[in-house]
Amino acid sequence: MLSKKTIEKLRDLQTPFYFYDLDVLGSTCETVRQGAEKSGYSVHYAVKANANPRILNIISSYGFGADCVTYNEIESAIKAGFSTSKIVFAGVGKTDKDIEAALRSGILCFNCESIEEIEVIDSIAARMCNIAPIALRINPYIEAHTHKYITTAMPESKFGINTWELEEVTDRLSSLKHLSLKGIHFHIGSQITKMSVFRSLCTRINELQDWFAARNANLEIINLGGGLGIDYTNPEKAPRFEDYFSLVNEFINLRPGQTIHIEPGRSLVGQCGTLISKVLFIKKGKNTTFAIIDAGMTDLIRPALYQARHKIENLTSKGSINHYDVVGPVCESADSFAKYIELPETKRGDIIAIRSAGAYGESMASRYNLRDLPRAVFSDEI
Ligand SMILES: *Cc1c(COP(=O)(O)O)cnc(C)c1O
Repeated sequence: MLSKKTIEKLRDLQTPFYFYDLDVLGSTCETVRQGAEKSGYSVHYAVKANANPRILNIISSYGFGADCVTYNEIESAIKAGFSTSKIVFAGVGKTDKDIEAALRSGILCFNCESIEEIEVIDSIAARMCNIAPIALRINPYIEAHTHKYITTAMPESKFGINTWELEEVTDRLSSLKHLSLKGIHFHIGSQITKMSVFRSLCTRINELQDWFAARNANLEIINLGGGLGIDYTNPEKAPRFEDYFSLVNEFINLRPGQTIHIEPGRSLVGQCGTLISKVLFIKKGKNTTFAIIDAGMTDLIRPALYQARHKIENLTSKGSINHYDVVGPVCESADSFAKYIELPETKRGDIIAIRSAGAYGESMASRYNLRDLPRAVFSDEI
């Protein structure tokens, strides 16, 4: 729960805005830092989850690296203090311009997703008289048991190199002189809450390691990607990092000289953020009552895009419980945060908190309807 004092301070600020609790962010980062250090993992924060400069700055202060999907993200990460030697560059559609800039800045690794991409990176590196460090993002065909829009490792997925192409890839690599194969990379989806999914991934990686070993490939980096889920029904609950670390330690077989890399996004920043909004109007529908708030899908698109459900609280009412559809002001029927949820009697001017909104919230905001972008307020500023 947000404290009474915090609520008192927040209610006077102009809504909507993201409120970031720096104690939560700090303790989450510390948990991951300690767990990773104990197990000898390298952590690369997935910048796309939240690229707010202050958040990036705090995360980089824990010594983590960054996982980026555009050169703009790489640039923001460098500005926020991430070391270029700890930055990896992922994505199915890297542009020539971004590849060139990333190569020039000296990043750790390009995580490559197709044969054509590998050839293009080689030719750009050749032109620049450089050697590009690469890892192969392999599609391991594992069902992530999460929403279909955030499942990335099925045969029909656009992500990763298919295992039936690996033979061709290793053949091609032997003749491409401006690439250096550093490792293999996986990312099987997001908001994964079933630990058995990560266990399947470890097993699959062990099999693939045998395949590469038989071809004398020297892999230093075994990158598991991100995907660890958070509990959206209980915003106070920390992600299951301990379970995750101990499972990976138990099931993955590393070879000498190999390091595990992980790329947490949501699990690092999800629970520290709350979208704070004000009720504009209460409106009676046919079978329902709408609470129309001043935050919409342009501020937080997850409910509209993934049918995601966030915990919603009325911070300023103690009235008797009623049912409400909590909706935004945007001209789209999908602009709805919750249907028929229980809230205390809600009226114009009440403050509504949408919890667990630190990941894929502010970073996915848009200006549709020419709405203002949401602001960010940090717990040490109020
Ligand atoms: C999005 C992404 C991540 C982060 O995923 P989370 O579910 O937020 O942890 C990590 N690696 C890659 C390649 C990604 O695309």
